[in-house]
Amino acid sequence: MYQAKHIPIRTCVGCGEKRPQKDFIKIIRTKEKSIVLKLNNISDKSEGRSVYVCRSFDCWTEAVKKGKIDRNIKTNLSEKDKSIISEYMAKYRL
Ligand SMILES: [Zn+2]
Repeated sequence: MYQAKHIPIRTCVGCGEKRPQKDFIKIIRTKEKSIVLKLNNISDKSEGRSVYVCRSFDCWTEAVKKGKIDRNIKTNLSEKDKSIISEYMAKYRL
């Protein structure tokens, strides 16, 4: 059987659902311990630990409030990080 393309599957830290990587927003903790959010970046080679969250307000709320992002990228989200996330959510109308 011919497989056209390998689609990476990732799990949302908010709801736990599995989806193709392109459907998620990726959160990366950089070496400088700041966080970076990226949309649909499949070929991204950024270094650092990362997590994936659906483009859904509920998933973000869940992930941030319950500290699921913090735990997965082994850091504590600062107030600044949280505001970056809020701004991002507002920008993309999540
Ligand atoms: Zn989700």
